[in-house]
Amino acid sequence: KKLPLDSSEEPGVRQVNGACFSRVKPQPVTKPRFVAVSHEALALLGLNGEEVMTDPLGPEYLSGSRVMPGSETAAHCYCGHQFGQFAGQLGDGAAIYLGEVKVPPGQDSDLLRENPSGRWEIQVKGAGKTPFSRQADGRKVLRSSIREFLCSEVMFFLGVPTTRAGSVVTSDSRVVRDVYYSGNPRNERCSVVLRIAPTFLRFGSFEIFKQADESTGRQGPSYGRHEIRSQMMDYVIEMFYPEIQRNHPDRMERNVAFFREVMLRTARLVAQWQCVGFCHGVLNTDNMSILGLTLDYGPYGFMDRFDPNFICNASDNSGRYSYQAQPAICRWNLVKLAEALAPELPPDRAEEVVDEYLDLYNGFYLETMRKKLGLLKKDEPEDEILITELLQTMHNTGADFTNTFRSLSQISCPTEGEEEEELVRKATELLLQQCASLEELKAANKPTMDTRELTMLLSVAQSNPALFQMISDRATIARQLEIISKLKDLMETSQEELQSKHAEDWSGWITRYRKRLARELEGQSDVRALQEERVRVMDSTNPRVVLRNYIAQNAIEAAENGDFSEVQRVLKVLQKPFSSQPGLESPAWVGRGQTTDQGERE
Ligand code: AMP
Ligand code: MG
Ligand code: MG
Repeated sequence: KKLPLDSSEEPGVRQVNGACFSRVKPQPVTKPRFVAVSHEALALLGLNGEEVMTDPLGPEYLSGSRVMPGSETAAHCYCGHQFGQFAGQLGDGAAIYLGEVKVPPGQDSDLLRENPSGRWEIQVKGAGKTPFSRQADGRKVLRSSIREFLCSEVMFFLGVPTTRAGSVVTSDSRVVRDVYYSGNPRNERCSVVLRIAPTFLRFGSFEIFKQADESTGRQGPSYGRHEIRSQMMDYVIEMFYPEIQRNHPDRMERNVAFFREVMLRTARLVAQWQCVGFCHGVLNTDNMSILGLTLDYGPYGFMDRFDPNFICNASDNSGRYSYQAQPAICRWNLVKLAEALAPELPPDRAEEVVDEYLDLYNGFYLETMRKKLGLLKKDEPEDEILITELLQTMHNTGADFTNTFRSLSQISCPTEGEEEEELVRKATELLLQQCASLEELKAANKPTMDTRELTMLLSVAQSNPALFQMISDRATIARQLEIISKLKDLMETSQEELQSKHAEDWSGWITRYRKRLARELEGQSDVRALQEERVRVMDSTNPRVVLRNYIAQNAIEAAENGDFSEVQRVLKVLQKPFSSQPGLESPAWVGRGQTTDQGERE
């Protein structure tokens, strides 16, 4: 415990000044029991999942209802910008550290490279009130815990950097939640996720030093405590970026190198999200890991039908955290981190680093996209256009993100003597199966404002821009107009017309794709070997199955009715997202997604 610990014995919710952690004890739950465990994640701690599950005290310890001897439990104090506004002190309102475990001998060398600290931090999420709970109760319910548990592990097996989850425990303790703010309060079971990561420190951890914010007047609780900021930077760099510490005797240069590495990891992370169709939903600075891990699974969503405007968080009215906004939002968050590290990180140097972000992001994104399309032998500048056109076609035709990419490996490089026309026709048929029907597209393009309201807003926009700014934002209106015009087109179309338009779109793209594939063959002697390599790379980059919202939802509903086996089954299938597991998976899990529902709101 190198970072300052709040020494006050005062319990309860309060402002915590001059400290990074507060001592706090998890509150036990009544009759804790396992819903599911991740054997792989528990193995990180040297625990055997089978043994833990059969031990009557297993759920007691893994829910924080009992605390191991020697464990000093604490909650972390952090701040953050929420939806663009500095929110002041936030902190672990529901998560409590149990402590750290030294990495047991014999652990996977890849994992150790990613975690040079040599230990894992463990926390229980949903273990009761802390000084940072504000108005809330510090508890989590079964549905939010299952969502966090499953997705943490699913992301890991998809190869996306993430915090891990060892178990989810439910109990007979209850809290009241207003599901999706529906006005139907429900009495739900307190449930606890055991989370594991090298560290849970985040951008927001450094924002506790922020001076009073111009617009809100809020200030970080440790404003002016420069010695703590230095200590926290030293701690993070020494523990988690030891190479940077070793290579930079000059402190300022070390700090710049650290910030550059965080920038790079963040760019790579968000590129991976985009390539797998993942939307985080709440990219506030307090949900941005200082290690570039996916952190805090709330209202996240994997896209079914491709829509760049996809919003998975029902409280995100303006689309600030939509799918296509993610890369730019992460850059914005990096700027906020740089501000929090100044003057230890000189602002002009930070700016130079942030200026590198977009190119790096694009590089990572294109690298993965080329793999997804099986363009392995050469990088052509026009590839970017081909990728953009693919996404545009997917959007126009309402194609399923995961399944469309997965289908692409069935389109092979052209070879001599084949019937080009016939092959394009077959490939088009294949992709059309992933497209939305007319009814689905109509349902997906429902405006949330009526035309009268829009007309009124548009006239305000023209006559009084200042007033317009106060009551609405341009992006929302533009989106509504786009939806309305799309819906109008759909109303005037029949299913047959739509189908033939979709077929035209797809055969056009497929023809261009195959021309590009033909160039892959240039200079290749063994066409079959290339074809096999393409399929292998594509099928290990384009998942067959992801955690679609309805897969999680079915498992949650089963668990709420007392059947926990579904959660474990989903986990088992998603541990191998690139291969088929007949007998274990449900056909619907790999079918085209048709949901239009939005995720969690809590
Ligand atoms: P999030 O939107 O999940 O990143 O959380 C924002 C803030 O709310 C953080 O300070 C959380 O610790 C806190 N928080 C979230 N859920 C709860 C809860 N059930 N009880 C207390 N605090 C919470
Ligand atoms: Mg959070
Ligand atoms: Mg959360």
